[in-house]
Amino acid sequence: MASSPKRPNRSESWKGGRYDAVVVGSGPNGLAAAIELARSGARVLVVEGADTVGGGMRTRELTVPGFAHDLCSAVHPMGMASPFLTSLPLADYGLEWIHAGVPMAHPLEGGRAAVMARSVEETADALGASDGLAYRRIFSPLVRDGWKLMADLLGPLKVPRHPFAMTRFGLMGMRSGKGFARGLFEGEAARALLAGNAAHSIQPLEKPFTAAIGIMLMVTGHLVGWPVARGGSQAIADAMAGYLVEGLGGEIVCLGRWVESLDELPMATVYLFDTSPRALVRIAGERLTESYRNAVGRYRHGPGVFKVDWALDGPIPWENEACRQACTVHVGGTLEEIAISERDCWEGRHAEKPFVLAVQPSVFDPTRAPEGKHTGWGYCHVPAGSTENRTEAIERQIERFAPGFRDRILARHTMHCADFEAYNPNYVGGDIICGVQDWRQMFTRPVVQANPYLTPNHSIFLCSSATPPGGGVHGMCGFWAARAALRELGGKPR
Ligand SMILES: Cc1cc2nc3c(=O)[nH]c(=O)nc-3n(C[C@H](O)[C@H](O)[C@H](O)COP(=O)(O)OP(=O)(O)OC[C@H]3O[C@@H](n4cnc5c(N)ncnc54)[C@H](O)[C@@H]3O)c2cc1C
Repeated sequence: MASSPKRPNRSESWKGGRYDAVVVGSGPNGLAAAIELARSGARVLVVEGADTVGGGMRTRELTVPGFAHDLCSAVHPMGMASPFLTSLPLADYGLEWIHAGVPMAHPLEGGRAAVMARSVEETADALGASDGLAYRRIFSPLVRDGWKLMADLLGPLKVPRHPFAMTRFGLMGMRSGKGFARGLFEGEAARALLAGNAAHSIQPLEKPFTAAIGIMLMVTGHLVGWPVARGGSQAIADAMAGYLVEGLGGEIVCLGRWVESLDELPMATVYLFDTSPRALVRIAGERLTESYRNAVGRYRHGPGVFKVDWALDGPIPWENEACRQACTVHVGGTLEEIAISERDCWEGRHAEKPFVLAVQPSVFDPTRAPEGKHTGWGYCHVPAGSTENRTEAIERQIERFAPGFRDRILARHTMHCADFEAYNPNYVGGDIICGVQDWRQMFTRPVVQANPYLTPNHSIFLCSSATPPGGGVHGMCGFWAARAALRELGGKPR
């Protein structure tokens, strides 16, 4: 199992220190902000509330010794597509990406499956003549312009640098996932493929702009793949922390308790918060204006998740061969079934047949489990704050497409919404992307203002996924927040 060798020193010397920047929280965005500041010459301290670094990138032996499970993020298309993360020398600090033969598969009844292969061509060929043609027509130009799209989409709202590519994407992305899939495709497989990706939005598939999330994930699948990190997602955190500390001279301290007040932090010119907006206003208190605090009070969090990690006696016995070769498997059946599941959860009900996001990293990364054994990772969306145990419903869905799955379970570990929030207060009510990512909050998170990272107090910044471009392990929120903070550092004497 990946350890966290970049755990900071336990001395108290940081308390009396004087820093250019203090970053609260060491998720991908906190570490990204710290790295961007440090590589611009700033003296940086990261203060993490948990015992180890990583936020959503931690790996632990949750079930049985020898089985390494990713607590939160497992698959990293956005990490591979991130202009910031890909600019860092993370391989020098131990990060190795592993790609499965098939990035993503989606089982259907009768042993069939829709498959998102690495290439648009291969994916389209398997969808039949008509849907294959439509798939090529839509995705070939988007993937050709993929890096242009990433440059414009992975940041705050601004005049696009690539207006033609963005207009093409925007006209399709503004539609609902359900409307887009139905309008474009005739067959069950292509529609399900799109629906499963759009469901990553954690919203009903009838909502506008849910197509955008699905399309973007599919573009990244063809552009860079959907890899896992060898040893687990902790390896990304350790590589980022290693680069920050060893390569750039930054400091990290893990407190073992949450920061509750700005007064607990050492002197600094700027403070960046890799926290929820609510935590930020609680910690900063009256240093922020009342109108900003009120605006943050109107920020909306979305549904939560229920997650199961399995130690398995063998690989998941999917009926369909492509599913066995896929790192990620979207388990939910047809577009209509997935739409019902996501609508139910949004409206406060627990879906009878939940849409399950499943990952089987040990099939491609032998370091995750003892020889011959495997790990499984799966979650479904649930109403915010739910503490209902969804293990039976999740396992029933997997068993439906992988008969005999239950017989392979050696041990399991589960987490409901309250467990997630206790583990990391950014997951308010179990909301793993720290705020609904609909059209109203996609670029204007957490409040509507020209620079979303800045607060009315120009020494305090928000850098978490509650800022654009939102959820996922890509570090772009932290990067843009650091850029905003650097402008302040440049303008003020230290
Ligand atoms: C179950 C699950 C599955 C996911 N799957 C994927 C996936 O496969 N791929 C993907 O790209 N993304 C995935 N995500 C989402 C991804 O993990 C998050 O979007 C991402 O980690 C957000 O990064 P962040 O830096 O903004 O915040 P976080 O990663 O949440 O980090 C915030 C850090 O701040 C610390 N902190 C919070 N409050 C305080 C405080 N008051 N004092 C001190 N420290 C504090 C926390 O301990 C934490 O370390 C998943 C998330 C979950 C929960």
